[in-house]
Amino acid sequence: MRLFTVLGLFIALGLAPASPALAQIKVLTSFTVFADMARNVAREHAEVVSITREGAEIHMFRPTPGDIKRGLGANVVLWNGLGLETWFERYLENLGNVKAYTLSDGVEPIMIAEGSYEGRANPHGWMSTGNAIIYIDNIVRALSETDPDNAKAYAANGESYKAEIAATFAPIRAAIESLPEQKRWLVTSEAAFSYLAKDFGLKEASIWAINADSQGSPQQVRRIIDLIRDNEIPVIFSESTVSPKPAQQVARETGAAYGGVLYVDSLSTPDGPVPTYLDLLRVTSETIVAGLTAKP
Ligand SMILES: [Zn+2]
Repeated sequence: MRLFTVLGLFIALGLAPASPALAQIKVLTSFTVFADMARNVAREHAEVVSITREGAEIHMFRPTPGDIKRGLGANVVLWNGLGLETWFERYLENLGNVKAYTLSDGVEPIMIAEGSYEGRANPHGWMSTGNAIIYIDNIVRALSETDPDNAKAYAANGESYKAEIAATFAPIRAAIESLPEQKRWLVTSEAAFSYLAKDFGLKEASIWAINADSQGSPQQVRRIIDLIRDNEIPVIFSESTVSPKPAQQVARETGAAYGGVLYVDSLSTPDGPVPTYLDLLRVTSETIVAGLTAKP
């Protein structure tokens, strides 16, 4: 009764809040891909903010005071772990006492096979239709523990989001599985697609192992040129957050096609090609299929 009266007074004064019943939590994510995943799980129950912006290099990011300010007041923080965000733990110290959830928890790591990161886990765990389920479940858990009143909504949203991902990937998987065995190669600039390659039964090779490492040295380029020639691999791709030049050079020298840009570490802006995680997985997978099935 009393609440009603107070609200009535606010309304009379033209001060009514837009939606008085809706208390939103603030969810902070280390990069844009997780922000979109979290929005799909939270929908109207959270304000979701990404620390890094669209198109940013996320391995070796350097937060500015503005990036720290944007994170203040977060109720929960979501990050990848597995050695991806080298800057994250130091960043988190600025936010005071807020719980961070490691979204790669439960992912079976694929080890990096070469370079100075050899033997460490490949961090790009979200880049897999199978692992997507683990990431979404971890987000549901993080949001439900932070905001138990809306736990049912988070669980329901998570289930429908997972179903959407499974439906999107059934035809793409079928297209890859119909390729002849010797054509099933995924050659890229960064070895960011180990999990996707495993999902789709593709052999993987890259010019460099991980963006935080050295990129496109003459030896790295030479090694991939030899591999492409030896295996008659038809196409090489690059990633949206790095220069395409080393991959294009390999294409020129081998006669392989340059297959275009794959997306992994960042979403695009809303008017770009991959404004959502589902778009990122779909466009990347479709680009791979198109490159591998193109007539020479
Ligand atoms: Zn990366």
